[in-house]
Amino acid sequence: MSNTGSVSPVIDELIESLKSLPGLGPRSAARIANHLLVNDRAAALRLAQALDDACRKIGRCEYCNTLSESSVCPICADAERDHEQLCIVESPADQRVIEETMTYHGLYFVLMGLISPIQGIGGTQLGLEKLMTRIEASEIKEVMIATPYTPEGDATAHFIAQAIKARGFDIHVTRLARGVPAGVELEYTDANTIANAIFARR
Ligand SMILES: [Zn+2]
Repeated sequence: MSNTGSVSPVIDELIESLKSLPGLGPRSAARIANHLLVNDRAAALRLAQALDDACRKIGRCEYCNTLSESSVCPICADAERDHEQLCIVESPADQRVIEETMTYHGLYFVLMGLISPIQGIGGTQLGLEKLMTRIEASEIKEVMIATPYTPEGDATAHFIAQAIKARGFDIHVTRLARGVPAGVELEYTDANTIANAIFARR
């Protein structure tokens, strides 16, 4: 590889690695690489260590699928929480937003994505079997679907509601609705709005 302008294969590799991060183009990647190497090597080493630690120690909770250091995450293991309520979210970031409202005390299932026919992601690719097994083996009486108001979020909510109905589970299914403006991603909605949506779902 004799790229024009390349001074070091090691730096090239660093830039290539940074480019794989979402939202980072070649210029931003090069700028970050230079910043770390020129201005802040301590931060660079701390970042490397944190990534190494996280990749070694973080797996998935066997119940709710969220990122977790233990095989059962602290929320699923908490006997004080309402084990009859399940809130389904797209990502750990959305789960964090709902936790911050301090108004929801049930359990979660974290999808780690959404159904997207365009990208060929259906219920199977998204691993929705794990969700159904989870519901079947539980005492869940209410499912609250908190996917975003996008075509993918709608398709996912519809799919899950249909799957629960088709299996004949006696479960009340709602969608986190009022108060969250259509088209707004959960992650960017403030805690009060979400708290209102949680209370308004009946
Ligand atoms: Zn869990």
